[in-house]
Amino acid sequence: MEVTPDEELDRVTVSMLRHADERCPRRLQHEFTSGRKLSALSEASFDVTNRVVADITTWHRGQVDGDPERVAFPDPDDLEPEQRAFYRALVRGYLELFPPVAAEVGDCGWATDIAELDVRLVGPVGIPLVHTDGIHQLRMLRAGRGSTLLDDVDLRFALLRAAEWTRTTLQLVAFDPLELQSVEYDIDIAGRLEDAQAWLAARVALIRARGDKHDTRAGADCRFCTCIPGCPQIARTT
Ligand code: SF4
Repeated sequence: MEVTPDEELDRVTVSMLRHADERCPRRLQHEFTSGRKLSALSEASFDVTNRVVADITTWHRGQVDGDPERVAFPDPDDLEPEQRAFYRALVRGYLELFPPVAAEVGDCGWATDIAELDVRLVGPVGIPLVHTDGIHQLRMLRAGRGSTLLDDVDLRFALLRAAEWTRTTLQLVAFDPLELQSVEYDIDIAGRLEDAQAWLAARVALIRARGDKHDTRAGADCRFCTCIPGCPQIARTT
């Protein structure tokens, strides 16, 4: 099926894929059917890390085809003081972990349409770099994830999102700039794509089966839930 740019597909994020089994059905349904619209509330906790990834990407681009002197990290003075400190710590850690490198910046976009399933995979996957030896690398910022910087869900999501960018080997480098640690995987895209597609189909089927706007489960999911307005369970308790 061909998907036109304006067509709204059901939206799937890495968080939905990971938590589909236990997420509140009403919230799951709401997030799944909210199309391309990204909620500022649900994305709030990722504001700083997403901005750091975007600024690092711009910085790399400047090293290659811009004037490196002019491409510095902008002072994030619109952020709260705690967020500014977090931003600076992430950038400082990145520059310590990765020495300067002459690599082109690739583009994995913000979303990937999976027409066979009528869904759009939404969310950044990392900093895409093509090194001079041709290696396609995704650097994935993972702050505060403890010893597991990358799990199977991250890996399959990245593979599915990056499959249009490179069809050979994808090098994933997950890094924590606060702990100054990183881990590296070489992924054979062609060899693992089928497995990732089958996994995605099963997870999307689960989301479709569990999502229900009439079924509410109050709990941890209520935090950052964008459908609190009108939620009968919350309205009952206020
Ligand atoms: S507010 Fe809580 S119970 Fe209501 S939809 Fe959101 S997660 Fe579910």
